Amino acid sequence: MSHKVILVKQENYDQAEIDLAVRRAVDCLGGMAKFVKPDNKVLLKVNLVAGHDVKKRVNTDPAVVKAVAKLVMECGGVPVIADSPGIGNFNNIAEACGIAQAARELNIECAELKEPVKLNLSENYNYSFRNLEAAKLAANADVIINLAKLKTHGQMKLSLGVKNIFGCVVGRAKASWHYNVGLNRDKFAALLIDLYKTIAPNLTIIDGVIGMEGDGPTSGTPYDYNLIGAAEEALALDFWLCKFMGVELEDFALWRAAKAKNLSECDLNNCELSGDFDKDFRFKNLKIPADRSLRLLPNLPFVSRAMTSRPVHVPELCIGCGRCEAVCAAGALKHDNKKLKFNYKKCIRCYCCHEMCPVHAIKFQDGFLLKLAKLI
Ligand code: SF4
Ligand code: SF4
Repeated sequence: MSHKVILVKQENYDQAEIDLAVRRAVDCLGGMAKFVKPDNKVLLKVNLVAGHDVKKRVNTDPAVVKAVAKLVMECGGVPVIADSPGIGNFNNIAEACGIAQAARELNIECAELKEPVKLNLSENYNYSFRNLEAAKLAANADVIINLAKLKTHGQMKLSLGVKNIFGCVVGRAKASWHYNVGLNRDKFAALLIDLYKTIAPNLTIIDGVIGMEGDGPTSGTPYDYNLIGAAEEALALDFWLCKFMGVELEDFALWRAAKAKNLSECDLNNCELSGDFDKDFRFKNLKIPADRSLRLLPNLPFVSRAMTSRPVHVPELCIGCGRCEAVCAAGALKHDNKKLKFNYKKCIRCYCCHEMCPVHAIKFQDGFLLKLAKLI
């Protein structure tokens, strides 16, 4: 089976240029009419993780969202822009990053994903987790277009198409999943794939015009990837991007989990690349998050903790908002008047506290085995 991946060059967010680039990418997959029929309710699942200004490149850019929404409307579909942030007020986040304004300009709905419902499991798929829930809108939409942002990620290394679907899990249930899965990255990756395969977006488009490098998904720095990507199969798109980002597939937990499930997308020979990028292309001088978990040693809690980085507080940056404590499903940290106390025995190294801190006042410190490994 061949999975088609389209990567087109696009160097800025000029709306007219983005419109053309998105149209070109989607046309290479057969055109939007292949996915959207008149009167279809179309969920545009954006990445709305935090209320940062658009220039921080944390969320899907409004220009890309508008380009996709316009194509959907051309086909007679009814787009709804939506996401479910892990913490924080949805409307404030949507306003801060310009997505709410984009929705107003097109006179379309911008809605928070809520009302969790049990997902119907697919047949002929090897589940690691069966008790899956997601927002009602994601479960019931006629069509889902996954509008991801190209970013690095402290816990999972890269945040691409498949990871974006985790946002269909409602609000803080995301933190509970982190807690249930614990320290094991491959287990969390298996959960991401289970959700992705069940929610099954019809099309994935990734905003990689300016994405993020370093301490993503919220504390990194902007990076000019200069691309728009599109695929019907987000795993195929993610694995090509992983290669272009200079990360060995074996070092990407999502690939290892897909391989364990024997999915055909793991072999890039099954994923046909088209567009403006050569197969040997690599992004230059890209900062990928340090390997925060070695996976070659026995999977015991003590060893796992020593193999991973732990979150540490930077008190001089802290504004005392308490979001870190609120998002920690493990109950592993307490905040009191700009002071944080971590319980590292309870901490599952999900880095949600780091992700949700608005002022980058939580950094990483390597566990001693990890430090040792870096010296060898
Ligand atoms: S302290 Fe931070 S990294 Fe540890 S479990 Fe809580 S949110 Fe996750
Ligand atoms: S560390 Fe960050 S999230 Fe936690 S209280 Fe301080 S500013 Fe808020």
